[in-house]
Amino acid sequence: MSYFQKDYATARDHFLAAAEARGFRQLRLRAPAEESSELYVDFSMLKRNPKKLLLHISGLHGIEAYTGSAIQTKILKESLDAKLLAQGDHSILFIHGLNAFGMAFYRRTNANNVDLNRNFLKDKTKINPDYEKFHPFLSPSTPRAKYTSYFGFLFQLLGHGKERALQAIASGQNTHPDGLFYAGTSLQREILHVVEFLRQHFPLTEEAYVLDVHTGLGKRGKEFLFGDSDAASFATSCFQRSLDFPAAKTESYQSAGMFSEALRAALPKTNWHYFLQEFGTIGNFAVLRALREENFAWKNRFKDPRALTKAGDKLYLAFNPSDPTWQEASLALGLKRFMQLNQSLAASV
Ligand SMILES: [Zn+2]
Repeated sequence: MSYFQKDYATARDHFLAAAEARGFRQLRLRAPAEESSELYVDFSMLKRNPKKLLLHISGLHGIEAYTGSAIQTKILKESLDAKLLAQGDHSILFIHGLNAFGMAFYRRTNANNVDLNRNFLKDKTKINPDYEKFHPFLSPSTPRAKYTSYFGFLFQLLGHGKERALQAIASGQNTHPDGLFYAGTSLQREILHVVEFLRQHFPLTEEAYVLDVHTGLGKRGKEFLFGDSDAASFATSCFQRSLDFPAAKTESYQSAGMFSEALRAALPKTNWHYFLQEFGTIGNFAVLRALREENFAWKNRFKDPRALTKAGDKLYLAFNPSDPTWQEASLALGLKRFMQLNQSLAASV
């Protein structure tokens, strides 16, 4: 049986059953959405040593949750047996479907079209003014503009170069609520849920190791590991490989308001080792095309619901390829990195 599910409710059921079977305690918080009252962010935890925490997250970007959820269910079903748990005494927390709305409705963003990995902004000043030039292409206002805006886009692409263009597009913006990579203008409930949850349940954490699973960015089938530059040597010893580049400090992935900052703010005295694990799927520009198409269909969903279904299905596959080789490799690496962090934390004093 595949761990990859197609809908929110089934993926959630499988995850919860697996967590339950391992004796994890379940807490859920309702995800904010007008569209459905049955959406929850699930927190499954094994509370042991209150000073050490291993945190695994799926679905900060909703649609990417299907891969993250598959990995979490695999970890729970295949690895966390009594023998393995006896190796350490640290607490373990899985956050499942952090952006439950996006997971359920096949969107990367939440119900407010906010990209939750751009949302933790310290002030509301305008970020990334370069986005402006790409917006007419990324979020066309009419079906006709979908085609005509290509010319402007190519012009900007040539002017900026590929790397800088991607930076301008994907690093987050807070001027167009209908656009892509929208950071929002206020802190979203999903982020507040996590902050409040950590403060309430894990206030004494001294060491926290985090694996935050994503898909979509980067070359097809490749695994990327991002982390802070001060975690580089830790990463080498823990993962037996180097980080691809520091998450927040390079030209090509310099985003504002990243989720890791929210974790640090939640428990400022904790020593955080945050890693973002990303699996490349169909290439950056193909992913961008799928996002643009889905965003257009979403904006016009009441006029043309069938177009949204089609665009949503495409988006699912853009972030969760059906290719069994890709799925197996991603599951295996997802499990491997979790086990490596688990072992490091078990061995730490
Ligand atoms: Zn992501």
